[in-house]
This record gives sequence, C-alpha cells and structure tokens, in this order.
Amino acid sequence: MDRPAKSGEAQTVLGPVAASALGVTMVHEHLLIDLTCLFTEPADGSERDLARQPVGLSNLSWIRRFWNSNLDNLRLDDEAVMIEEAMQYRRQGGATVVEVSNIGLGRDPEGIRRIARATGLHVVMGSGCYVAPSHPPDMDSRTVEQIEEEIVRDITVGVGDTGIRAGIIGELGCSWPITANERKVLQAGARAQRRTGAPLSIHIGRHEDSPLEIMACLREAGADLGRTIMSHMDRIWPPLDKLKTLARAGCGIGLDTFGQETWMYPFGGADRLSDAQRVDLIKILVAEGFDRQVLVSHDVGYKHRLSSYGGSGLAHVLSTVIPYVMRRKGVEDERINQFLVTNPARYIAFA
Ligand SMILES: [Zn+2]
Repeated sequence: MDRPAKSGEAQTVLGPVAASALGVTMVHEHLLIDLTCLFTEPADGSERDLARQPVGLSNLSWIRRFWNSNLDNLRLDDEAVMIEEAMQYRRQGGATVVEVSNIGLGRDPEGIRRIARATGLHVVMGSGCYVAPSHPPDMDSRTVEQIEEEIVRDITVGVGDTGIRAGIIGELGCSWPITANERKVLQAGARAQRRTGAPLSIHIGRHEDSPLEIMACLREAGADLGRTIMSHMDRIWPPLDKLKTLARAGCGIGLDTFGQETWMYPFGGADRLSDAQRVDLIKILVAEGFDRQVLVSHDVGYKHRLSSYGGSGLAHVLSTVIPYVMRRKGVEDERINQFLVTNPARYIAFA
C-alpha cells in the first residue's frame, strides 16, 4: 500500500482507499490537536486559576462559556481517550474520519496512524496551515512557492521522515479580514492541489463575505472548486444569493459544527445555531437543488466537546442528529446517505 493515492481514491494514513469504499465519513474532525495558539487569558483576574486547571466537573460550566480560556481544554492529546471517542463513532456505523489538524496545530502523524490502526477507521490527515495565530514565526518571509512545496511533499512523500502522507490540503485557515499570510497559504494550497489532485478544505472567516472572497482567491490560483470544501458554513450562513454563488461554483458546503450548541462564543460574531437549525439549513440547500454539496461533521477540537468530558462527541450525528432531528424533520434516508457517504467520497477523492 506504500504508494500515493490515484484518481478516485482517498489517501489515508494507512494508504490509498477507493472512494467508493470509504463508507460513512465525517469530513471535518480533529483526533489529536493543540489549539493553545488560541488561548485567551481570562478577562477577570479571579479566573486565572480556572485557566490552568485540568478540565473537570468543577469547572466544566465555566469552560463551556470560555472554551478558549482553559489551556487543558485546548488540547486533544490523550490517545486512549481519543481511541474510545473514535470507537463510539465506529460502533454507530462510522467508517472514515477526515482529520484536518495541520502545521501549527500539533499535527501528529504517528499518533493519528496509531488511532487508525486501533480503531479500524480510515483516517485522512491534513496539511498546510491554519489561521494566522498558528503560523510559524518566519511566516512573513516564506514565499507561496515554499509553502506550496511543503504541502506537495506532505502529500506525495509524507510528513517529515514518517512516510505518512497527508490526504487533504487543510484546514487552511482564514480570518476576517483575511491576512496577507493566510492569502499566501490559500494560493499555495490551490497550486499544490493542481499538482497533486488532493482535495482542499477551508476554514472560512467569521463573516458572510468570507467564503466568496476565499473562492475568488482560490479560483485565481487555479484551485479545483469541485473538490474544495468550505468548512463551518453553519457559523455564518450567508444570504441565499451568496450561498448560491458558492454552491454553483461547485464548492462543498460544510455544516460541520453539529453538537456545538452554545450560548456564548469566544469569537463573537453571529448567533450560534442549534442542531435543529442546522438541519433546517440543510433542508434549504436541498430545496435549492444543492443536495450533492451538503457535508456534515462535528469539528470536535476541544476537550469539552468530547463525550468523555460531557460533550456530544464524535458519534453525535449518527446517534442523535439523524434519528431524532433529521428524520423528525422529514429528511429522507436517501438524502442522509448522500450527506454521509456519497458526497464526502466525491469531495475527498483525488482527481
Ligand atoms: Zn476544525
């Protein structure tokens, strides 16, 4: 299996897998991640202790409001815990996880491969860079070409000397407004996609105009928008005309924060949705004829989102959203199969 993926295959950490054999797939998850680049010191000095405690029942209520202000919460670093979380997904019928942690987010190829072996899941690993706070210190001086070469190497040769190949370019991080270095990463990602045929996954900025700005940049740099996933669309949900422009260009629409029902959001911006509202958005996309572009996932990246820490975990879409929300709202099984199986397979297969 020691060869890069060919057209029609996904590239997992254990080798290529025919896209048609991927089964139920979550397109935007994290199994091992270090998000401490987003750590925010609590505004209230009396809460400094809370910032440095391990996540537990005594502080969980506070952490659910201030997720970015507890250092332990910002790390998924216990392989045994993550194997159990991933097994919950597997036991509910899950087969593939796209793990989009990349450079600057503690990407751990060996750890991800151990989790894939222990669980029997297909796991696709990310490449490229996340938002500016996660960038390496010398990012200003790096050229698009250098970033492009690094991504191409991760996909064709493997990360460092591990021989473990990334299978997706992403999640490429974009702020709003986008920074100059984030734009370089987008351009590099698009060029690396053209050279390798790998899929792209974009973390959009928190503004309704962000996805179209990103789309324009990617298009100009030669990206294949038909294998580009715009992640976290349920965080901003642009007006319908903008959404249609994005969908008509071929982009995948990621409604990928299922289970994140929260009354406070450390990044500000728009109101947070409930899972029921996310399903309502999916129904709008289906009604508009974009059912082939709907992609669902959880984006579990913090301890408080794990079921071991009282969160809804990685099995939530399968165990709860489908039976208790989608079916109740009349989403047909044929559609659900599209969202979970055929759409992800099309978006993550190599060209
Ligand atoms: Zn993510």
